[in-house]
Amino acid sequence: MQYYSTNGEAPIASLEKAVVKGLAEDKGLYMPDHLNPLPKEFYDTIENKSFHEIACAVAGGFFGEDIPQEDIDRIVCDTLAFDVPAVKVEENIYSLELFHGPTLAFKDVGARFMARLLQYFLKKSGNPGLSGNEVNVLVATSGDTGSAVANGFLGVDGIHVYVLYPKGKVSPIQECQFTTLGQNITAIEVDGVFDDCQALVKNAFMDEELNAAMKLTSANSINVARFLPQSFYYFYAYAQMKKAGKADDLVVCVPSGNFGNICSALFGKKMGLPIKRFIAANNANDIFYKYLQTGQYEPKASVQTIANAMDVGAPSNFARIYDLYGKSHEAICKDISGATYNNEQIADTMRACYKNTGYVCDPHGACGYQALKDGLKDGETGVFLETAHPAKFKSVVDEILSSDIDIPAKLQAFMKGTKQSVEMPNDFVAFKNYLLNTLK
Ligand SMILES: *Cc1c(COP(=O)(O)O)cnc(C)c1O
Repeated sequence: MQYYSTNGEAPIASLEKAVVKGLAEDKGLYMPDHLNPLPKEFYDTIENKSFHEIACAVAGGFFGEDIPQEDIDRIVCDTLAFDVPAVKVEENIYSLELFHGPTLAFKDVGARFMARLLQYFLKKSGNPGLSGNEVNVLVATSGDTGSAVANGFLGVDGIHVYVLYPKGKVSPIQECQFTTLGQNITAIEVDGVFDDCQALVKNAFMDEELNAAMKLTSANSINVARFLPQSFYYFYAYAQMKKAGKADDLVVCVPSGNFGNICSALFGKKMGLPIKRFIAANNANDIFYKYLQTGQYEPKASVQTIANAMDVGAPSNFARIYDLYGKSHEAICKDISGATYNNEQIADTMRACYKNTGYVCDPHGACGYQALKDGLKDGETGVFLETAHPAKFKSVVDEILSSDIDIPAKLQAFMKGTKQSVEMPNDFVAFKNYLLNTLK
């Protein structure tokens, strides 16, 4: 499979190059140059397949031309040590719980898959993992990406991870998941907002001196190895709904920030996955929502909300969606509609959902649930993605619901660690010098 850049001005890349480089030379995002539809028989019997079997088949569709299926199966096996059940919340509305992985959020799958795929390519190319010859993964996070990537890459030989996060803008529970690990994980606390962190990372990839001195790659959802595996969720959601006799007229609603997750779903649809349509749910950062209404894509600075993993003012994967649909606003609107909720509406939704159904939504999932309540038509069944466990946002959730929700043991373990981080001004030169100094 070959990968081209959404900006159209970089050379075609192999899978290996796309994974190792992350971003194309022209700052565009890599796109697979074709998609392999899965055979009819796959869909005919999908309801009897396990998450693991489905993921192996889907991963084979994306990566099978470049990697032997048995190696893909091994990577999938190491990635999916947990289930993502579709739980009925009320008549015709289901929650796909993506929070049963190690850091209790959906990014665990993509992060782990990418760590293993990168390691696969490093081993193949004979990189001994000696210091100085390490691959350095840079990742900007508004909270959840950092924890998922840090845990996905923890202890993986030959790879060092730098997590850049906005000081004071991630929850304490999120922060401890990437600042307490040590080993090959360094947390960098940036005096700025998420978009500043993302800009520092993007500038690092474009800096010739830095790239000559060290091997840099990205683990943000711009990396194909991170965002494509998220499509497994949608195939498995469909399988579970088919088993429940609810797969006709299926609407899937995705709480979205950088749009990597929903983008992987759209790839799935192009591979034949029979999901009728999608809803992208935004918080107050409504760039995509506005694009759907007006046809104008106007990124702006992000605003802070209680669903902070969706606080993105310039969603990276918009470029992929736009490309996938041939730059047609009309075609995009046929498959995707939008919704946007402010903090107060999110809180109201969480209270109403809890009162009426007993289900506890986290602030991100609440956007998805409400968008289905508002947008589902007669005869349709809706699945929203519950993208994080509510305990990851415990203080917000408890305040809104007047509750005292339990913290799962996995999370408690992180909270016992000691925070270690490097303070960084929002300044590229300072960041660059810091990285260069790590080589000394
Ligand atoms: C990352 C994240 C999102 C947004 O996903 P994108 O792929 O960036 O659109 C939503 N909810 C949670 C909890 C997240 O961590």
